[in-house]
Amino acid sequence: MFCRNCASELSEKAEVCMSCGLRPLSESKYCQECGAETSEKQEICVKCGCRVHKAAATGFNIDSNEIIYPSNPPKSPATATLISCFVPGVGQVYLGQTAKGLVCLAATFALSTFTAGIGYFPIWIAMMVDANLIGKKLERGQSVRQWEFF
Ligand SMILES: [Zn+2]
Ligand SMILES: [Zn+2]
Repeated sequence: MFCRNCASELSEKAEVCMSCGLRPLSESKYCQECGAETSEKQEICVKCGCRVHKAAATGFNIDSNEIIYPSNPPKSPATATLISCFVPGVGQVYLGQTAKGLVCLAATFALSTFTAGIGYFPIWIAMMVDANLIGKKLERGQSVRQWEFF
């Protein structure tokens, strides 16, 4: 694998590039397969034909395979849990799971309306536990998927 920021050759398992200190797949300047120069909008490397690894986009994204990388410093699982305690799903948005958080928020309100509030409590507790566990994964340096639960 090549670093997408500085084109240094790295081990497949390298979390951080030893030359530039960035996550090897966080930029879009070089192909991760052959090290050829690529542009930000390019999807396929024109030198080796491989699909270039997409850097995680910021903002709202409904791509379910989007990977959320741990931020540095990591976001606090306790804060995420607390936010989801007040508003279910928003703790997930805080952690970077924007699409999941917003859909869960909408689902929580829809379900509690249909069940006269009874349906709110299981989701409320689940969203708090979920925010905590997803937050802990990110805190440990693991990446999570946009729609990963618990
Ligand atoms: Zn690098
Ligand atoms: Zn290439």
